[in-house]
Formats: sequence, C-alpha cells, structure tokens
Amino acid sequence: MKIATPYYLIDEKKLLRNMQIIEQVRLLSGAKSVLALKCFSTWCVFDLMKQYMDGTTSSSLFEARLGFEKFGKETHAYCVGYSESDIRAVVGYADKVIFNSISQLERYCDLVKPAKLGLRVNPGFSHSGFDLADPARKYSRLGVADKQMLAQKLPQLSGLMFHYNCENDDLETFSQQLDRIGECYGDILRQLEWVSLGGGLYFTKEGYPVEAFSKKLADFAAEFGVQVYLEPGESAISGCAELVTSVVDVVHNEIDIAIVDASVEPHMLDLLIYRLSAKMESTNCGEHQYMVAGRSCLAGDVFGNFQFKDKLAIGDEIRFADAAGYTMVKKNWFNGLQMPAIAVRRLDGTVEVVRQFTYSDFLNNLS
Ligand SMILES: *Cc1c(COP(=O)(O)O)cnc(C)c1O
Repeated sequence: MKIATPYYLIDEKKLLRNMQIIEQVRLLSGAKSVLALKCFSTWCVFDLMKQYMDGTTSSSLFEARLGFEKFGKETHAYCVGYSESDIRAVVGYADKVIFNSISQLERYCDLVKPAKLGLRVNPGFSHSGFDLADPARKYSRLGVADKQMLAQKLPQLSGLMFHYNCENDDLETFSQQLDRIGECYGDILRQLEWVSLGGGLYFTKEGYPVEAFSKKLADFAAEFGVQVYLEPGESAISGCAELVTSVVDVVHNEIDIAIVDASVEPHMLDLLIYRLSAKMESTNCGEHQYMVAGRSCLAGDVFGNFQFKDKLAIGDEIRFADAAGYTMVKKNWFNGLQMPAIAVRRLDGTVEVVRQFTYSDFLNNLS
C-alpha cells in the first residue's frame, strides 16, 4: 500500500541502533539516560525506547505529564519558569523536580514533596555553535551562576543539572569541560546524590568513541560519588526519520525549481531558524540539479539544492532525512497546509500509519 504524502516516517530499526548505544553507555559507565521530550515527543515509538532508556525529562508541565503517562520509568521535570499551578500539577508526575533559579526553589520547595529537588547550574561556559541556543550566552537566564548561593541551598537539594552542550560530537572538548565542572563544583557534588550533564552530546554519531566517553563518565561518577544522568534528545533520535514528500510542480526561474507538498516553516522549522539546508539520505550525485522548495507563500521556503539522477516529474517522491528531532515537535499550521501524517516502520518491517491529520485538526487548533 502506498501512503499518501506528505508524511513523517520513523524507522524503528534505525532507532534501535541509537537505543543500543545508549544502553551500552549505561552498561559501561553506569550513567542513566532520560529522553529530552522537547526534542522528540512522538510517543508511538516510546514502547521501544523505554526498553533502553531510563525515563524522560521535560521543559514544561505538559511534557512531564506525557513522560509520566506514555513513557514511565523516571520522570524528571524541569521548566525555566513554573507557575504555582504548574508545580501543584507537576508533583503528580515527577520524581525529580529541577528548578531553574534559587527564587523558584525557595518559592516552591515545600510544594514538591516527595519528589527530589534539583537545581540547574550555569557553569559560565558551554559548547554551542549558535548564540540562539547557547546556555552560557551573555545575560543567560538558564540556571544558577552564583556558586556561593548554590552552596547555601545544598541542604534542600539531592542533585544538580548542567546543560551546556549543543551538538557536541567531540569527546576532547567534552572531557575538558567535564574536568572544569569537577574542579569548580566537585566539593558541592560530593554532598549530592546525582548530577545530570544535560543533552547536546552526539554520542550516537557514527564513529563516536563510545567506550572512552563511558569511561570518562564512570570516572566522574566514582570521583564525586554521584549517579550521572544524561538527557539525550537529538542523539536518541538522530537519523531515524524522514519527511516523505511528492513533487507537485516544477518551475523555472534561471534554475529548475521543484515544489513539493510540504513546507519548511510548518514542517521542518529548524532549517529556517538555524539557516540550514535539508538533508537527503541517498547521496545524490546525478546531473540534474534542482532547488527543492516548499509550497507555502514564504519566498524563502527552500529545503535546499540537490542533484538528481533523473529529471524530476510531478508525483516523484522526495525524502528529507533527519526529520524527527526538533522537527515533529515544532510542526504548525502555517498556511493551512496539509499536515504530514505520522508513519512508523516497525522492527518487523511493516509500515503503520499511526496518525493522519485532517481539516478538523486545523479547525480545532484555533477557534
Ligand atoms: C534541549 C535540552 C536537552 C536535549 O538536548 P539535545 O541537544 O537534544 O541532546 C537536554 N536537557 C536540557 C535541559 C535541554 O534544555
């Protein structure tokens, strides 16, 4: 059966490969991994993921609830700014609540029992290629920067969370920065039970030195006597999904332009935010070059320039790679375009369409 485009296709076999690396890191290092739901919260594959990961972490009340209800295991709850009603609800789902500031901790610490309390720390350095996503940027509001104030709050805390990496695929810089954390916060960590090193580590990437990474984590855990957590988002789901589209028109304006039945802003928004080109799985090396563009009214709705073996015709399928992390969670109804369905290729090879969107989803998104 041919599925009508556009649709996101998640491949469980590819996902399993990432999950097995995550499990390997836990076996070798003792570090637990909780899925960062802000990156990926398409819960139709959580039954597979939860066999290899230790739970979820969240950025909001709704994510915490989703983690608790659809993933289970450990539920970490973090938010840059909780309201009182958020906190009263979040304690029904979370076993750890991580506050972003001392003032949030002071305001709500009596409301969160029996959950364990953590605080996010801003160590003042980071590994990030984009200012927009740099947690140590000037005037950053993300985490507590004042170590003295942090030390005063130790009696209320069981752990700390550091999230200071973004797309870091380099073990060397990770190790150096982890050493800095040990030097600066080691005295504090020795008095705590756990530390989360956040996300932003590309340890599932092809060729990443997983064993050396695991050893670094194990040594850190042993030196400070803490349970280490990782919060993988992108590295859990990287390379596991495609956005499958069809060509609806081919036009020419100095170059050949193929227009597909999806669009960058509503369906792969991060390409616009970070000014990136979409990726294609098959290395295209043909002689026919096209700009592949979306069908929204936005002039710059361009997926990228690609080479194709054959001339493109209306109805031809074009598949963009890496369509899961920070992609499906950000889809929106801009231009009222057909929302891509969600399909999963299960481990046994069968493809299941798990969700289709209709006019009524568009209608009910607003009122
Ligand atoms: C975004 C985020 C993550 C996940 O980051 P990835 O780059 O997707 O691995 C983990 N923890 C926190 C606190 C985050 O903000």
